Amino acid sequence: MSDDPFRLGLDRFEEILPRYATEGPRYTSYPTAPVWNESYGPEAYRKELGREDIDPSDPLSIYVHVPFCESLCHYCACNKVITRDHSRADKYLDMIEREVAAVHSAVRVPRRATQHHWGGGTPTYLSPEQVQRLFGCVNAAFPIAHDAEVSIEVDPRVTTDEHIVALRECGFNRISMGVQDFEPKVQEAVHRIQPADKTGELLQSARSRGFESVNFDLIYGLPYQRPETFARTLDTVMELAPDRIALYSYAHVTWVAKQQRGFERKDLPNAETKLAIMLLAIRRFLDAGYIFIGLDHFAKPDDELATALRDRTLRRNFMGHTTQAGVDMIGFGPSAIGELRRSYAQSQRDLGAWEQAVEEDGVATMRGHMLSDDDIERRWVISRIMCLGELRAEEFEREFGREFSGAFASELTALKEMVDDGLVTIAGDGSIEVTSLGRLFVRNVAMHFDAYLPEQLRSGKQMFSKTV
Ligand code: SF4
Repeated sequence: MSDDPFRLGLDRFEEILPRYATEGPRYTSYPTAPVWNESYGPEAYRKELGREDIDPSDPLSIYVHVPFCESLCHYCACNKVITRDHSRADKYLDMIEREVAAVHSAVRVPRRATQHHWGGGTPTYLSPEQVQRLFGCVNAAFPIAHDAEVSIEVDPRVTTDEHIVALRECGFNRISMGVQDFEPKVQEAVHRIQPADKTGELLQSARSRGFESVNFDLIYGLPYQRPETFARTLDTVMELAPDRIALYSYAHVTWVAKQQRGFERKDLPNAETKLAIMLLAIRRFLDAGYIFIGLDHFAKPDDELATALRDRTLRRNFMGHTTQAGVDMIGFGPSAIGELRRSYAQSQRDLGAWEQAVEEDGVATMRGHMLSDDDIERRWVISRIMCLGELRAEEFEREFGREFSGAFASELTALKEMVDDGLVTIAGDGSIEVTSLGRLFVRNVAMHFDAYLPEQLRSGKQMFSKTV
């Protein structure tokens, strides 16, 4: 039998799976969002935005959340507003203009955006003219740097050639398409009918208009998915050959996305079937030459994510994996998150509440968190594990001026079970390496360094999806 864990039979996982198929964060932030609270409001965010100890050449990331979608995909746990009344977008754009002006006036040190990303919802719910208006407004306040990554998430069902032209005129150079699964029965069950031809045509259009990178989002764990059905989806994906692929585990979070309660338990793949689908997909991507990046991304070897992994600059934030370390992020739109050097800030989630807050104050911060020194160290540790699959004790010591194995002695002891299961190795100085097998359980490794998690789990409140 091969030693490659992605080629192991499922029987090899039978013993360890029950220990690690638990609930846990995905660590797009640390501390995780349930820790944030309302004592951090607009005033605190303004203060952090106004810090003067920032170099104008420090990179800055901009995120814009466009909340509208035309129809509801039943698996979706994003913050969105389902409406076919496109006139609602005009008020949203008016409010974005106010929000951008208010945030811009709070920023003391002007910087160029090295990353500019739109997510949603469905950003191409906006008409091409509205796309240009939105980009023009944000770019006037936070102009993009000449080599910036300018990226957008699109739904191929509503994205036209005119959108592609408008996006390129704005300067977008990376595009991410929601695909999830091409199987008709799965598409019907999740209420997202999206023929493969449509996705293929959009991909060709994006490439011919000069987009540098095309990403596909796939989800495993949806109703009726089985390894043999997902194999057909993978065949089509491999034919279309996107530059990047994000392979997400379906998050069954019915307390956030109530429509997920409509899924019958018996139709959802169990943990073993999910694992089988994930292993199948990983093998296909690796065989096709993609590099496995971080938790759930795959990229061609010359893609900048693969380069960032090699250079050890790969990081993770709310937009997924990113190539730039130490970047501040400012978010616009309902539920958007700002990540500044020492704090997180999230805007009002509900569209009406966000509009009202922007109208009254300009800044719509609903909650946030100031990071303590301990938070900053643990964020660093968790980011290394999640992004690079390893942590070098000497790097920690250089960064924080104290010995890693002494600072995290109890966490290293608690990792022993994972060492015994062959998921991690720990060197004499405390350096951690996640094994190839351990990559499938990397969230479980990171969870040992989360100081808030034990209390969160004890509370009995449902907060996180299953790790496997
Ligand atoms: S998956 Fe995308 S298109 Fe579907 S409801 Fe969610 S945000 Fe909208």
